[in-house]
Amino acid sequence: MEDYSELHIFQDKQIDFFAAICLHTHGKGPAIGGCRFISYASKEDAIQDAIRLSNAMSYKSAISELPHDGGKAVIMLPKNNYDRALFLKKFAECVDSLHGKYITTVDSGTTQEDMTIIHKYTSHVIGYLTGTDADSNPSDFTALGVYTGIKAAVKLKYEKNSLQGLHVAIQGVGSVGYRLAKLLHADGVLLTLTDTDIEHAKRVATELGANFVEPDHIYSIACDIFSPCALGRIINPNTILQLKTKIIAGAANDQLANDAMSDVLNQKDILYLPDYLLNAGGLIHLAMQMQGKNTFAIENEVKKIGDRICRMMAIAKENGTSLFHAVQEAVLQA
Ligand code: NAD
Repeated sequence: MEDYSELHIFQDKQIDFFAAICLHTHGKGPAIGGCRFISYASKEDAIQDAIRLSNAMSYKSAISELPHDGGKAVIMLPKNNYDRALFLKKFAECVDSLHGKYITTVDSGTTQEDMTIIHKYTSHVIGYLTGTDADSNPSDFTALGVYTGIKAAVKLKYEKNSLQGLHVAIQGVGSVGYRLAKLLHADGVLLTLTDTDIEHAKRVATELGANFVEPDHIYSIACDIFSPCALGRIINPNTILQLKTKIIAGAANDQLANDAMSDVLNQKDILYLPDYLLNAGGLIHLAMQMQGKNTFAIENEVKKIGDRICRMMAIAKENGTSLFHAVQEAVLQA
């Protein structure tokens, strides 16, 4: 099990409210991390998700040199009808009770509109709507970071300066995956995509002239880059056997079923870009927004993800290790 510094559980049985906030602190600064509001099979699963993801947020901040600790919150989506506004108010009170140690924001199942409601009850929230330029969606910056990282990986692995004519298979065309698909399409990339929301995926495929495949078939597509932009833990012994790619670069958090998968990928000569290095664009955006930086400055910082990958790859080569291990080492020393 991953470690954590603080685990806060909040429960109101009368309204079926259950939330957890996990902090992974090491004295860098307030923890920033999104709030997931999704269904979980059990409270234990919800807590484990918060623990795992708070670790990832901590790594993400460290590797991106941000002055923040890691944190994550989860609210269990009730099986029956519930009052969403009341749940968000309750959650805001949970956040407020931590007195600024944790700053919440958008994640799977929550929106900028939700953050706007939360902001009525606590100031420890970012990513709410203000009616100004600052309202840009973190997913724009996450997608930009992944795109920049893919360009760096293509240079390193295929020695190409352009993405033109390469083939990318995207798993999940939600908030980030769709934006990434558009950026790649504009560069002349051939796309194969999937999503469990089949109708949506087919619409995106038509819009971008991409091939659609059923969700289970995405792993076995012969492509230059496989880009997981949906779920965590999808790189496992079963899916690795199906892969026909030399680069894995996607936005999804927590992609490896366990760390040993990185060694299997390395043995197969597949370059895996660690998720927390590649998908930090959204976090960089939020952290810099808190510092009052403008969009231009934020975009420039997000684009440095590509340089960071090249730098870490050079260190990995020098030390005779994989990019995954080089990045983990850098995080531990940060
Ligand atoms: P999202 O919910 O908008 O999109 C995810 C998409 O994946 C949805 O369209 C969903 O239908 C689809 N999906 C779910 N299971 C699938 C499966 N088995 N096969 C194919 N498609 C499937 O989420 P998002 O904001 O785009 O985030 C995507 C991933 O990136 C998540 O893992 C998230 O934690 C991570 N991430 C997002 C951000 C951000 O800024 N939004 C930042 C960092 C990391």
